[in-house]
Amino acid sequence: MRGAVIHAPGDVRFEERADPTIEQPTDAVIRMVATCVCGSDLWSYRGDNRIDHPQPIGHEYVGVVEEVGADVRTIRPGQTVVGSFFASDNTCAHCRAGYQTACLHRVGMGGLGAQAERLRVPLADGTLVAASGTPDADLVPSLLAASDVLGTGWFAATAAEVGPGKTVAVVGDGAVGLLGVLAARELGAERVIAMSRHASRQALAREFGATDIVTTRGDEGVAEVKDLTDGLGADSVIEAVGTQQSVMQAIAATRAGGHVGMVGVAHGVAIPGDRLFYSFVHLHGGPAPVRRFLPELIGLIEQRAIDPGRVFDLTLPLSEVAEGYRAMDERRAIKTLLVP
Ligand SMILES: [Zn+2]
Repeated sequence: MRGAVIHAPGDVRFEERADPTIEQPTDAVIRMVATCVCGSDLWSYRGDNRIDHPQPIGHEYVGVVEEVGADVRTIRPGQTVVGSFFASDNTCAHCRAGYQTACLHRVGMGGLGAQAERLRVPLADGTLVAASGTPDADLVPSLLAASDVLGTGWFAATAAEVGPGKTVAVVGDGAVGLLGVLAARELGAERVIAMSRHASRQALAREFGATDIVTTRGDEGVAEVKDLTDGLGADSVIEAVGTQQSVMQAIAATRAGGHVGMVGVAHGVAIPGDRLFYSFVHLHGGPAPVRRFLPELIGLIEQRAIDPGRVFDLTLPLSEVAEGYRAMDERRAIKTLLVP
């Protein structure tokens, strides 16, 4: 089969790879229906993560099950399935507590390389959630969004304790931030302040339910959020970038007693203890346990209650994966959908 392999920063190639097979009796092999490029893939693409040797890449997937191992009980060939960026057994203590990304038996899907024609999925019964029947083609982008960016935005909103009547600020206008806006509205937020400097992203944030847009960042951005909230700060803040500036901006934009949902993969972030201490905020985050939310999110998508697939503003054949990375790196695209 063919799939994406990253050789070095800026160098993603579509090439021949070994066909995935059932290696463990709990594995499934899926044929890819759609996959995509993640903002977190750009960390490697931009040289912020080490690449020691050419490696498969990609961790978002919607596929049709082709084959399952002897111990797989609930997932069956022919099902259309969605899974998250960590395979998880969904039975250990961390999984039962709703933290499947901390699963005691977790397997990172990025290393298996989902930007490919086929994919091995470990712990299939725990990892995969089946759609009802064969989904309509126009639902596929939204199901793919559920695999990571929607689930991550949803976790961020949940971690930030978004609820009815609350004011939410969202730091980050990538796919996760934009879907954090959608999640905040779905979870009942009264006001959602999207922080973005880009007109097309502001427009999508509005479509997803943002009520206010703040175009500044850093101290200036914090001051604007405070101006919009009677000088207090937001009740809930979603941090969906992962830089020093964005994390400090999120903490400073939160009111005393408020909550920050941190889902931007932290790179070089150091939170000064005194700043945290005097902020009075709750911090909660990490790699989003998307699996916790998948059944609910797939249901909302199938009922057409939400349309998160709108974050994909570029669709390419999988063979043009390199251009998919370039477009996102240069911010010509919010998110690239790849079709085998
Ligand atoms: Zn587990």
